[in-house]
Amino acid sequence: MHAEIVVLPGDGIGPEVAAAAVAVLGAVAERFAHTFHFSEHDIGGIAIDRHGEPLPAATLEACRQADAILLGAVGGPKWSDPNAKVRPEQGLLAIRKALGLYANLRPVRTHPAALGASPIKAELLEGVDFVVVRELTGGIYFGEKTRTADTASDLCSYSVGEIERVIRSAFRLARQRRGKVTSVDKANVLETSRLWRDVAARIGREEFPEIALEHQLVDSMAMHLLAKPREYDVIVTENMFGDILTDEASMLAGSLGLLPSASLGEPGAVGIYEPIHGSAPDIAGKGIANPYATIFSAAMLLRHSLGLEAEAAAVEAAVHAALDDGVFTADLAAKGQAVSTTQATDAVLARLG
Ligand code: ATP
Ligand code: MG
Repeated sequence: MHAEIVVLPGDGIGPEVAAAAVAVLGAVAERFAHTFHFSEHDIGGIAIDRHGEPLPAATLEACRQADAILLGAVGGPKWSDPNAKVRPEQGLLAIRKALGLYANLRPVRTHPAALGASPIKAELLEGVDFVVVRELTGGIYFGEKTRTADTASDLCSYSVGEIERVIRSAFRLARQRRGKVTSVDKANVLETSRLWRDVAARIGREEFPEIALEHQLVDSMAMHLLAKPREYDVIVTENMFGDILTDEASMLAGSLGLLPSASLGEPGAVGIYEPIHGSAPDIAGKGIANPYATIFSAAMLLRHSLGLEAEAAAVEAAVHAALDDGVFTADLAAKGQAVSTTQATDAVLARLG
């Protein structure tokens, strides 16, 4: 197949890890006889420096035309003045909104060779393999905000349509996986959560009767994620609960440098694939960043935007093989044993072929 892939390297370690993923996608194209065409565009801090805005019109236009978008990371100390009118992160929010990306998928899989890097007991971690689907465009982060001298409020609101579409994304994903959805809410106290639960139950009953659906309260979910993480397949939740639970879940895998993400909209619409970590200014430019999260993100791109499941699985298997062989960057390695970003990428390339 032919695919147009827009690459947004961004700031900090973004360009280093994006280059690694592009190299892997290039190798996939060669091995499986596809043609992938890559074009790079500016977003975030570098776009502010070059164009005066974090999401230049040319970048957005290229993204609209693309089959898929691979992103590194945005932000850094250079642009972090709290009084600045334009900030790198605005580029990310703006592009998600412009492309209608309402479902953020964060797979969490543990790897036998990397269990020691997690603060959680290894015996709880073996075989953990779930995906959190976080609603990305609604809820309390986007509701009306007020502030007076002695009160403040943030409105949390959801429409049926906003809930339905993200719930459907979760059920479709469960269909490709182990057939179980856990919907997380706070229906004992929040009205938005009662609506969420009603909608999830109805969509499950009417459209996905073959998928097992369970409801969990967010507070007990926070406990279960650490106590029995193997039980979960697809977890779907609203924006703020998802924000908190995905950070918690990331601790299971041991390093931020292992965790990919996808931001998706309607089936067939363009998606953005990026590591969950930020621009890591403390290690930028040193060539030591872990590229695996971005390479796993490239695998998600192959799977979800291009429909290339065998290719996605081959990339994931190559990274797991590199991990099995102890090819660790500094975030995972014992002192003195670390390889560079390029060496880790080469190890994946060697195991692909
Ligand atoms: P953001 O606000 O953009 O999410 P952050 O403040 O959460 O950023 P990160 O940039 O994700 O922070 O970095 C957090 C820590 O994890 C830093 O010490 C960073 O060096 C480390 N880190 C992040 N990504 C990687 C990676 N790919 N490889 C190695 N270390 C990483
Ligand atoms: Mg962060």
